[in-house]
Formats: sequence, structure tokens, C-alpha cells
Amino acid sequence: MGTDLGSGMTNAPPPNSRHSVDQDQFLTILSREQALARFEAAVFPRAVASEQRPLAAALGCALAQDIVAPIDVPPFDRSNVDGFAVRSADLGSAGEATPTRLMLNDEAIACGTAPTRPVLSGTATPIATGGPVPRGADAIVMVEHTQPADHRAIDIRRAAAPGQFVSYAGSDIARGEALLRAGTVIGSREIGMLAACGIAEVSVARRPRVAVISTGDELVQPGQPLRTSAIYDTNGAIVAAAVTENGGEANFLGAVADDEEKLEAAMRKALATSDMLVLSGGTSKGAGDVSHRIIARLGKPGIIAHGVALKPGKPLCLAVCDGKPVVILPGFPTSAMFTFHDMIVPVLRRMAGLPPRSDAKVAARVPVRIASELGRTEFVMVSLVEGADGLIAYPTGKGSGAITSFAQADGFFKVDALADQMAAGTEAEVTLFTPHVRVPDLVIVGSHCTGLDLVTAPLARAGLVVRSIAVGSLGGLAAARRGECDFAPIHLFDEATESYNTPFLADGLELVPGWRRMQGIVFRTGDRRFEVLSAQDAVRAALADPTCIMVNRNQGAGTRILIDRLLGDARPDGYWNQPRSHNAVAAAVAQHRADWGMTIAPVAHAAGLGFIPLAEEHYDFALVTARKQRPAVQAFFDALASEQCRSALAQAGFRPA
Ligand code: AMP
Ligand code: MG
Repeated sequence: MGTDLGSGMTNAPPPNSRHSVDQDQFLTILSREQALARFEAAVFPRAVASEQRPLAAALGCALAQDIVAPIDVPPFDRSNVDGFAVRSADLGSAGEATPTRLMLNDEAIACGTAPTRPVLSGTATPIATGGPVPRGADAIVMVEHTQPADHRAIDIRRAAAPGQFVSYAGSDIARGEALLRAGTVIGSREIGMLAACGIAEVSVARRPRVAVISTGDELVQPGQPLRTSAIYDTNGAIVAAAVTENGGEANFLGAVADDEEKLEAAMRKALATSDMLVLSGGTSKGAGDVSHRIIARLGKPGIIAHGVALKPGKPLCLAVCDGKPVVILPGFPTSAMFTFHDMIVPVLRRMAGLPPRSDAKVAARVPVRIASELGRTEFVMVSLVEGADGLIAYPTGKGSGAITSFAQADGFFKVDALADQMAAGTEAEVTLFTPHVRVPDLVIVGSHCTGLDLVTAPLARAGLVVRSIAVGSLGGLAAARRGECDFAPIHLFDEATESYNTPFLADGLELVPGWRRMQGIVFRTGDRRFEVLSAQDAVRAALADPTCIMVNRNQGAGTRILIDRLLGDARPDGYWNQPRSHNAVAAAVAQHRADWGMTIAPVAHAAGLGFIPLAEEHYDFALVTARKQRPAVQAFFDALASEQCRSALAQAGFRPA
């Protein structure tokens, strides 16, 4: 790690003596539990800072104290209906054929008026919904069940149970009862309860102010143009949002270069006005990684853990400087997000006066073997799909450098630090990122193609949840054979039969034709060596020029077979550079890391590259026959066959079969 290249060169590397400090800190790697316990012990106990807020301004805040009801609600015995306040004992013999006649008292009780006359035996008092029940009365008769009689009297044709249509004082909320607990987040319902008790102002936890800083010479803020070799700052936005989600008030201060002086100034300034500081990046042992050195100078006790036996997230650095937590998250976005949620959120929520987050968990089977590093608690992000007998948890693993590993996962499971693997088929307890995971209607596992997004678009618009898990053609076929998906998109070339896909089908699978993707040579437009007619000529020209560098494809890719055929025995410079995707080939050529390679036409065109067509690749679907009749599967193949979809595919450079 610590691959701060490019403009990082202008920052002189720090003296070597500093490195020994880093080494020391990384030598004492704590377990996840030890690190969290030490961090919490250094931050707490502390009083939750609170403030008084009027009800309307308390929405979304956490109550700082328990609230005890100061009054009874309702404050008096109240009628629930429009009718007559009566003594139930008077109506013991009332029936359809034998009505009881009651004399009306000389008042009518409206809402907000206090009764002045008692209800004596043989009498009734008209009362409105919400009116206070008068002395002597113990039930209300609905006006619908009465009939006016002569001389200020009414006839009642049914008996009344004692307490009928009466809400007794305190039956809703009783004075002295614990109405709301400290830590409750105030929503409209809580505001309703407080208002019913006459409470106009509450003491709420003051949101901890959390300063967020990204570090790295390579970072560019979203919205700005991307420089060469730069990447967009992902962590800044993620961390700020996660702080807000967990009760903090985030103050994102942008990205600071890997410059010790500048960073120290920024950290001091941030800490002066915050309760907590969260940085990301620069926590590894690379020469450009300086933030953890600065922490030692910011206050006591300083670094509490640097290096946690956690995957993703080993370089996590936890510190407390004069009472304020200072955290350096790992630079890789998935590591940063995961460690923030796992290790920082518990502390932040406690500072914010919130109860611990309650995580929903489900049991799911893990279909593939998971290799795990001995000695590190490993968290594996997964997508959940419905299998034949229960949920299946697919690792979304593109590694901790990939934002989608976390962002597109439904949850994660844990592999114990003492385990070096988890066998395929193990039942795991999956902690969900959000409590309500909707199991997808359609599950596609295999090779991804941008064309696929064009076919699934109408399904998504119709409200179907489509989950596409990119594991490559062979991984998709294996999943389809196990019945873990509806179908697998594949593009596998069989050399023996010189045909695509069909030879790879197993029992229970059938092939549905998808589309063709033209493969060919990519090069930068204007490169004379490739301004020729055929792919064969282009490769001949490339091989003739020893300065020409190629980019290859991984073994097993259909594209690789085509390349090897063109090259014969030649092994030009760049042959061993073997990325796994069409896009990576185009990027290498566009960025001058290579001069030519083989990719598909839509990808070459999207990258603004020149393209010499060679052969068509077949991108088809291995459908699990048993799942053919499922509505979402039908919807997918209906969409595939639609004129609209075919023209969208054609426009994107694909040739529908
Ligand atoms: P570092 O720990 O600074 O060496 O960073 C490790 C990796 O994470 C490098 O590839 C960085 O470019 C990347 N990284 C660091 N900070 C960020 C960020 N804020 N957003 C996206 N990637 C980052
Ligand atoms: Mg960095």
C-alpha cells in the first residue's frame, strides 16, 4: 500500500528514523475486540453533551434524558362518541321491545366545557365526543341508539356496559410513567406523545461535530475534472454520509495532500472546532503516509491501536487526543466504509447519545469455498439470493479496493480469526446492512456485459428487483448447475468444435441466444502502424516494431484464444500483461500503457479508440430449465425479444441474435 505516485514525488520522503516508529506500531496488531475495547475505554465514560430544543426543532435528535409523563392523558374521563352520559345500572332492562326512558339534564357537554350537573339515577346528559364525563355517569350511549321522547326525555333500546365509550383519565398516558427513553430518536410519533403531555421543549443530545478529511495527492473532488493518474475522492463523501446516518454532524473539509506540514495544520484546525476527527488514507507504512505520525503530536494519550487484525481494514489507526477521538481509516473505500461501520460507529453513536445499532441477521448458505487469512477476523460482503432451499450468500468480492464490494452488498458474514477457510456450503450468519433486504426477483450470475443493462432496464422500471453478479462465464455456469441463479450469461469458445457456448451446457440447462459482440484490434486513432485493413496486417505491423507494446487477456478468455491465434509463437512486449476485462484493455491503450490489444467494438468506441474488426463473440444465456416459467425470467426474455431492446442493443454496438 502507500502507492502515492505521481505528484507525491514533490513531497520529500520523511527521514528513515520515522519509519521505525511505524514498524513498531504495526508490530503490535490488536484483535478487533481488543482494539474496540481499548478505544471505548479511552473515550468513555463521558457526559453526552445536550441542548434544549423546541419540539419542532427536535425532529431526528436523540433524547438526552428519559421523559416521565407530567400529566395524565386524557386528563379527565372523556367520552369517545357523541351521545348521552348515563348510569349503566339504569339500563339493565333496556331492549328493542322494552326501551328505558331517561330524563335529560339541563345542559349539553361540549368539548372543552366542564359539566355542572350530576347525572342522577333516571337521567342522562347530552355529551359530545371529547367531552368530560359528568359526575355520577359511568357510560355513554351512542346517539344512534337513542330516540328523542316528549318533555326533554330520550328512549334507549339497549343496555350499556359500565365504562362503555369512556376513555378514563390516564388510560392513554399515566402521569409518572416513563414516556420515552433517553436515546430514542425523535420522530413525528414521539413528537405527538410529547405534545399530548404539554411538553414544548426537550433536552436532546447535541450531535457530535465530526470533521472529515481525506488524504492523498491523488484525490480529486467529484465535480472536478479527473487528472491523469488521479482518482475521485470516495471516502470523503462516504464517511460524511455515514457520520450523519449515525447521529453526528459531519463537516467535510476536503482532501489534503500527503504533506506533513499541511496535513498537521489541517488536522489541528479541524480538531479545534470538532468533537471527533476522521481521516482516511495514509495509514499504511508507505513513504507518503504521514497522518499517523502527526497524531502523536496532537494530544494525549495519542494512538491506541494502529494495525487491527481485521480484514478488510488492517491499517486502521485509532487514537484519542485530549479527549477527542481521532481515527485514520484505511484508504481503500471498502476498507474505509467497513471499518467505519464496525469500529467507529459504536463510539460515535454513544457520543451522540444513541443506543447501539441493532443489526438484523439472517442465515444463508455460502456456495463457494472462502479462503481466509489465519489470525485476522475477516468480513465477507455478500449479495443474497433465494435458493431452492433457503437463502444463498454470494461473496461480492472484488476486493477491498472496490467500492462496489460494499456498496452493492446486502450484508456480510464473519470468518473467525482462527479459521483459515470456510468450506463451500457452510451456513453463515449474515448481518444485513439494512434490516429489510428484498430478495431479488431475477438472479443473473456470470459474465457481465453492458448490453445486459439494456435488457434489464424495463424490468427495473416495472418494479422487479434484478441482481446481476459478475463472476465470469465459468463461475456463472457452476452457479446455474447448482440452481443458484435463473440463468448465466456466458461467452465461452470451444476450440475442439470451434463453436460458442453450446458445448459447455450441462443437464438441466438450455441455451437462449443473446447477442454478438464484434472483437477486434484496438489502437489509438492516428497510430500509423494500425491504419491498415485487417487485424492480421495490424498484428504483423505491431510485431515488426520492437517498441510496440501489447496488452493481452487472461488465460481462459475467449478473446485470449483469438489473440494467441494471431500471435502464433510470437511473445511481444506486453504479452504477460493479462487483465481480465474488455474495459481494462481499452484503458491500457487509451492511456499509452500499451499500443494495441483486443477488445469488443462498443468498448473501443466508448473509449474513443480505433478498431479493426476480427471475429464475433457470442454472448448467450445458459438458462436453468427449472426456472424458465418464473415471471421475472419470462419478463427478461420478453424484453430481450422486444423491438425496443433489439434496437437499443444495436445502437450500443451489439448484434442481437
Ligand atoms: P493509502 O492508505 O493512502 O496508501 O491508500 C490506499 C489506497 O486507497 C490507495 O489506492 C489510495 O489511492 C486509495 N484511497 C485513499 N484515500 C481515498 C479516498 N478518499 N477515496 C478513494 N480512494 C482512496
Ligand atoms: Mg494515500
